[in-house]
Amino acid sequence: MSTLEIRNLYAMVEDKEILKGINLTLKIGEIHAIMGPNGAGKSTLSAAIMGYPNIKVTQGEIFLDGANILKCSIDQRARDGLFLAMQYPLEIPGVTNTNFLRAAINARVSNEDKISVRDFLQKLDEKMALLNMPEEMSERYLNEGFSGGEKKRNEILQLLMLEPRFAILDEIDSGLDIDALKIVAKGVNAMRKKSFGALLITHYQRLLNYIKPDIVHIMMNGQIVVTGDFALVKRLEREGYAKISKELGIASLEV
Ligand code: ADP
Ligand code: MG
Repeated sequence: MSTLEIRNLYAMVEDKEILKGINLTLKIGEIHAIMGPNGAGKSTLSAAIMGYPNIKVTQGEIFLDGANILKCSIDQRARDGLFLAMQYPLEIPGVTNTNFLRAAINARVSNEDKISVRDFLQKLDEKMALLNMPEEMSERYLNEGFSGGEKKRNEILQLLMLEPRFAILDEIDSGLDIDALKIVAKGVNAMRKKSFGALLITHYQRLLNYIKPDIVHIMMNGQIVVTGDFALVKRLEREGYAKISKELGIASLEV
């Protein structure tokens, strides 16, 4: 069975230790939620899994199907089936959405498996329709001048087009109104299948009412402090992070 396994991961950003021993195993077919207050290290964990060079892993391992990927570059990890929807998507003026997506799809396959223009456009139309995206967005420069909600939707479009095995979705709900949230959730739910797993990172329970996670983790201060099922989300909604952190004896919490 395909797995993404994070073992005792410690990482630093700019000489500050942010991740302090993360353990997590995501099996294909599962959706895990990681919830946690601001500054807990959720985005740092996402970036570490994807291999961003500004994150310095100092201890531990990340295994994809049993192989340690820590030495692999970002693009190698993407070719191996990892995907990251970023909390703050980058704008790339001069590269249209269409060109970017086609290049991204083709970069992951060998020459004989390149997607034809016809198949690509058909798939693009279908996925954009699912996400209620106007057609003209495909010819606009990647994320340039997109609203916060449009950027999030565009991240989900990339997810649907690239069909990775494992996706890390970092706060895909932030800044969305309820209609946009439902559309984004619809996009993620369309990916739900045996051959797909996701880490859904969020601050709020709201998104998890639409994308039901199998397993829920709470991250604080660079560690996963509790793991449970959906009941944990309900508890968090009732009690907030502060009470849970107090019970667990976690001090200096930034909320
Ligand atoms: P979360 O996503 O849970 O809100 P982050 O992973 O973004 O948390 O941040 C965790 C901690 O790392 C915060 O204290 C933040 O200030 C710090 N941090 C993140 N990126 C940088 C950076 N580029 N330089 C310095 N500190 C950073
Ligand atoms: Mg974050």
